[in-house]
Amino acid sequence: MSPSSEQAAMVGPTQKVNLMGLSQKGLEAFFETLGEKRFRATQLLKWIHQLGVCDFQKMSNISKDLRNKLDELAEVRAPEVIEQWDSKDGTRKFLIRVAGGSAIETVFIPEGERGTLCVSSQVGCSLDCSFCATGKQGFNRDLTAAEIIGQVWIAAKSFGQLQECGTRRGDRKVTNVVLMGMGEPLLNFDNVVNAMSLMMDDNAFGISKRRVTLSTSGLVPALDRLGEYTDACLAISLHAPNDKLRNELVPLNKRYPIAQLLDSAKRYIDGLPDTHRKITIEYTLIDHVNDRPEHAQELAELLADVPVKINLIPFNPFSLSNYKRVSNNALRRFQQILIDAGYTTTIRTTRGEDIDAACGQLAGKVNDKTKRSQRYKLDQAAMLSSDSDIIPVKMVNS
Ligand code: SAH
Ligand code: SF4
Repeated sequence: MSPSSEQAAMVGPTQKVNLMGLSQKGLEAFFETLGEKRFRATQLLKWIHQLGVCDFQKMSNISKDLRNKLDELAEVRAPEVIEQWDSKDGTRKFLIRVAGGSAIETVFIPEGERGTLCVSSQVGCSLDCSFCATGKQGFNRDLTAAEIIGQVWIAAKSFGQLQECGTRRGDRKVTNVVLMGMGEPLLNFDNVVNAMSLMMDDNAFGISKRRVTLSTSGLVPALDRLGEYTDACLAISLHAPNDKLRNELVPLNKRYPIAQLLDSAKRYIDGLPDTHRKITIEYTLIDHVNDRPEHAQELAELLADVPVKINLIPFNPFSLSNYKRVSNNALRRFQQILIDAGYTTTIRTTRGEDIDAACGQLAGKVNDKTKRSQRYKLDQAAMLSSDSDIIPVKMVNS
């Protein structure tokens, strides 16, 4: 992406350039236009993402003149937290206001030493997977890079991780980031890639490439380009072992079927400089939809030539869906078949359920431009008033 488009994306309502979302390259280009040396970029990155300082006047290694110039032209602005909830299991959910009257959700999940932040990439999602609460809300817009990295900044700040003067270092820390919140990251390519570079830059958050994961439902052309821009981990939301079933669950599959998607994912992993990296396959298990032993066997065969580990996600119910969570028996049976076939297969434990922070439950507030959310509400009202049996997959695709 050209620095000019990176900067254009950063201009906030005040028309000042928001430096929060500029990567090292973007900041270097910004300082060059001011006739300043490129090392200023490193200084700014550290002030913003390591020390949590937004006020240029507090940036003591920058001359008074330059601080004043920055005040005129630029700002460092994180999105605003509307509300924050803490689950009894330690999960913390943030509701974050973004420009345009919408709100997004970000979830922090502690697990021993590890602290995983689940970050949103769009306001809503246009792809409408049948089992996903975000999809039911329709779509408003892409998040800017500042709004994406701003979620990491907000969480880190809330744990005292940014070492601003007088701020105590907390015991919780963002050690991992997964782009598994609201939205399809590959539909917001430039902003996601820039935000990821800030997550991994040693002068910013410095998170290892093995601890930043992009999850996609399978936008093949964008996945084919991803390796030119990042070497982060990759998760594929598969959810079905064949095209017929996946077409029903993930409508995007009709455009980019499983074989194309797995080939593209393999090319990404093969292109990484370090060996032994594996693709994470995400498989949301829905009662009587994709949870049968035959599905597990078919999945094992499908993935035979792909370097993967498999993460099974019990479906989390939400109000606009008639799907049910997989039974514990079916879940264990499914996992065992995959383990017996030689796959590392984990089950994602549901976290933060008491604060609606579990996978697929993230909803925020989407000013829906697609009218889809309205249609789903009407569909549901019509169904509630009829006595007919409901076949969930048919219903969501009609
Ligand atoms: N759009 C991207 C990333 C966001 S979705 C993608 O689809 O990969 C992140 C993960 O949450 C996906 O694997 C998705 O399948 C899963 N998910 C969505 N709805 C869910 C639900 N109701 N229960 C459990 N997992 C869900
Ligand atoms: Fe969008 Fe991912 Fe939800 Fe599908 S699962 S609707 S791609 S957020």
